[in-house]
Formats: sequence, structure tokens, C-alpha cells
Amino acid sequence: ELVLGLESSCDETAAAILRADGTILAEAVLSQLAEHTPYGGVVPEIAARSHLAHLPALVRRVLDQAGTTPAGLAAVAATAGPGLIGGLIVGATLGKGIAIAQGIPYLAINHLEGHALTPRLPGVHPGGLAFPYLLLLLSGGHCQCVLVEGVGRHRRLGTTLDDAVGEAFDKSAKLLGLPWPGGPHLERLAATGDAKRFTLPRPLLGRAGCDFSFSGLKTAVANIVAKGLDPQGRADLAAGFQAAVSATLADRAAHALAMAPGATALVVSGGVAANQGIRTALAGVAARAGLPLVAPPIRLCTDNAVMIAWAGIERLRAGLTEPLDHAPRPRWPLGELVAAG
Ligand code: ATP
Ligand code: MG
Ligand code: FE
Repeated sequence: ELVLGLESSCDETAAAILRADGTILAEAVLSQLAEHTPYGGVVPEIAARSHLAHLPALVRRVLDQAGTTPAGLAAVAATAGPGLIGGLIVGATLGKGIAIAQGIPYLAINHLEGHALTPRLPGVHPGGLAFPYLLLLLSGGHCQCVLVEGVGRHRRLGTTLDDAVGEAFDKSAKLLGLPWPGGPHLERLAATGDAKRFTLPRPLLGRAGCDFSFSGLKTAVANIVAKGLDPQGRADLAAGFQAAVSATLADRAAHALAMAPGATALVVSGGVAANQGIRTALAGVAARAGLPLVAPPIRLCTDNAVMIAWAGIERLRAGLTEPLDHAPRPRWPLGELVAAG
């Protein structure tokens, strides 16, 4: 009852093997960061070629680590979207190949559902996490607020109207002269700054619903930078930016919780969930609603294959396998998933 998970939708090449009960037997992630850094962002063609070069060896490695062979697998789960099509084809095709060779089910996993179901992985939340729960997915490519109601059943309550939150961090960090990807660098700089020095906009604060907007914030940062800043000024601006984002996310999350009265928890995931200021703000929101804040360990918040294998296990249990002619989807909203009965 071993499930192999493959992730290749963006700039992480990853493979993992889980037991059907959720025990992680092996996991490996290769970041392509160094390959894309010279270009200041992910280059799709480079990403696809890198997945092609590294994913098969990574599968070999996790099989060895788990002490098994392809014959020991019960199913293969591969990210089939959303993401960069070249990378998706690499992972999906390798996954299908293994499934054909072994005569086992192929599971086409929506990357966002991978993020969404990860908090249900045994050990992440004491006693396990029951549906429905509210997920804030905060990453470089996504900023969404989703009510996770069941396997394949996700209701998007809000999304960003412009930049994703990680993108906003990265763009503002770039304006502050920090290396790409700037999120962690900006957080470190903010630690030495005074958040009250600059008044920055708090987009959509208090507005109904749970949509997000960050481009105005970025513009405000650009305008302040353009006037010239000393080192302390840069730190103050970083702190002000982080405070504005934290306050905005907290406000949006509070609105979303009001839209989801049955929610059992507030869950935060995605690379931006690493940010302590944001976590603290969201913990306050959850506490005021009488709910736990659940944040998977960072390595399971950022792109990984454990989440793909786990989503595969949840779908396999629900009988939701995919035929071998399933085509990867570069765009694949959470609302368009196949759900159980
Ligand atoms: P996606 O998962 O949506 O396809 P991605 O690969 O960019 O996109 P992740 O790997 O989950 O997403 O997250 C990366 C993003 O998280 C980057 O924008 C990065 O700057 C941001 N990030 C990482 N650590 C921090 C931090 N401590 N504070 C703020 N942002 C951070
Ligand atoms: Mg990434
Ligand atoms: Fe992701």
C-alpha cells in the first residue's frame, strides 16, 4: 500500500513515497532556484528541461530510501496542474509510465488540492483535521481563500485581484535591493525596522468578502523608494510593508471565517506561511474565532511531493483515479475538481 507522489509544476522537482496510512517513508525536493536566479524569475523552458533531467533519478532515490521497487507501489500520483505545462507533462508522463508498467492506478492531482489536503496528513494537527476548514494559500503564485469541504470539494471564497502575496513580497524586496526570491530577506530586514515610520495602504481592509489586492501596496513602496532611503529607512519600509500585509491578511481571514460558520480551523499554507509576522497576525484571528490556527511544517507548506502523494491517498480512498489519457492542465481552478459521489 505504497503511493509515489511526483511534483513538477513549477520550480521544485520533488518525489515522495507514503504508506496509505500517511506515514512518510521517503521524500526528496530539488530546488531549481540557482538555475533561475540569473533571470530573476522562473523560466518555463529551463524548468521543464530541469525536471526532465532530474525527476527520474529522484524517483529512484525515494524508492531506494523507502526500501522498495516500482513493483512495491500501489498507485502513482502526479501533479497534473495548475502550473507550467512543460514541467506538468514531465511529471504526468513519468507517472503514467510507471502506472502502465506496474498495472497500478494513476492519480492526476491538482497542485492546489495538494496544498489544501496537506493539513490532514497524520501528525500535522493533533487528533487530525476534519472538513470543513478554511485554507489561506499564500505562495508566490497563489493567494486564495478556500473552504475545504471534502476531497475534490473546495469552495473558493476569495482570491487576489492582482499580485499573489509572495509576488508582492518579491517585488517589494526587489525595490529594496534585496536578492530574489525576496520574501525571507524582506522579513529579516523588517526585524530591524520601525513599522510605524511609513504609512502604507491596507488594500481592501474592511471590505466585504475575502478578495485580496497587493499592487497598490507595491506602488506605495516604489514611490517611497524613489525618494531615496538610508539603511534604517529601508528597514523601516520593510517593516511597514510586512505590517500592512499582515493586517490585510488578518482582516481578509476574519471576513472569510465569518463566511464559513462551520469551519473547524484556520489553515495557512504556501511559502509565505513561513513569515512569523503573518503567522502571529493569523493566530490572533483564529483565537478570536475560537479556532485553532494550523500551519503545516514549512517543508510541507512550500512545494513538495509529500502533499501530492497524500492527496493521491485521499483520492484513492474515495475511488477517484484518473484514466491514462488525462491531460495536464496549466489552468485548473479548485472549483473544477472531480469529487466523490
Ligand atoms: P506556487 O506554489 O504558488 O506555485 P511558489 O513556488 O512561488 O508558487 P512557494 O514555493 O510556496 O510558492 O513560496 C515561495 C514564495 O514564498 C516566494 O514568493 C517567497 O518570497 C515567499 N516567502 C518565503 N519565505 C517567506 C517569508 N519568510 N516571508 C514572506 N514571504 C516568504
Ligand atoms: Mg516554488
Ligand atoms: Fe505550490
